[in-house]
Amino acid sequence: MFPTTIAGSLPKPSWLAEPDKLWPQWRVAGADLAAAKLDATLLAVKLQEDAGVDVVTDGEQSRQHFVHGFLEFVDGIDFANKVEMGIRNDRYKAMVPTVTGPVKLKGRVHGAEARHARAHTKRKLKITMPGPMTIIDTIADRHYGDRVTMALAFADLLNAEARALEADGVDVIQFDEPAFNVYMKEVTTWGVEALHRAIDGVGAKTAVHICYGYGIKANIDWKKTLGSEWRQYEQTFPLLAKSAIDQVSLECANSHVPLELVELLRGKDVLVGAIDVATDRVEAPEDVAATLRAALQYVSADRLYPCTNCGMVPLTREVARAKLCALGAGAAIVRAELSG
Ligand code: ZN
Repeated sequence: MFPTTIAGSLPKPSWLAEPDKLWPQWRVAGADLAAAKLDATLLAVKLQEDAGVDVVTDGEQSRQHFVHGFLEFVDGIDFANKVEMGIRNDRYKAMVPTVTGPVKLKGRVHGAEARHARAHTKRKLKITMPGPMTIIDTIADRHYGDRVTMALAFADLLNAEARALEADGVDVIQFDEPAFNVYMKEVTTWGVEALHRAIDGVGAKTAVHICYGYGIKANIDWKKTLGSEWRQYEQTFPLLAKSAIDQVSLECANSHVPLELVELLRGKDVLVGAIDVATDRVEAPEDVAATLRAALQYVSADRLYPCTNCGMVPLTREVARAKLCALGAGAAIVRAELSG
């Protein structure tokens, strides 16, 4: 009961990449970089295992950023001439690459780290990728001329990689869609359809992660504008409940999300965020247990996966490790209570 998992990312060792940055520079290059990424992947898996995480990830150690780590494996994108674009409905500006031709995968994206992790853990393994809506919200377009057409083109690439990850032995494939909390109308008109394209024919479990972002200043300022109750999920969860996606990952810890909205996901696995990634304060196991107990009012015990609110990449390694341990220990408390 209560298999624990994490949203996806963990901080990288400082011998691999600059610490404390969302867009870090790699510290090594060439064949050394490829080897260092795999070494860091192994460490990330081990840390999760030791903390009691049941569905482990590669810690996203092989990618510079959660969106661009995918895009760098796509042909048809000009990375040399980045343009400034307001993203997440202009919440912040970023220098983004431009789509200049039909998008096509250059080859495998996450094959090396997925196979390496698979070879070294007996736990269930999850690999995350950016969702189609979040991708097209993080890239400029000079080819398709239509955001939806471009999103569906990316969904086909995600689908090819998802099928290959399943063949690598990956158990859960998760798409990160923070854009689903920003463009709720588009989720209805084409967002779920694009996700369905991405999971078409995939036999592994599929998940979507929808959050209020990392604890960076632009997000903290944005959250202040959302009022005392964050009800964005109210519009998207009913659609996801009817969708073919197996699992939904959401934030609950220290959040203004009314927990009763979780009820809207009945029938799905719910990855309950019980670790706040926007603070260095490490939760006590009892804090985690309290969040899980509260969520149990709205999700049945066999569908609840204790999780983190979002990726832990902006945290220090020591804080992230301590939070992983709190997650495992907090889940164990409630597990013991329920098994009496
Ligand atoms: Zn997130």
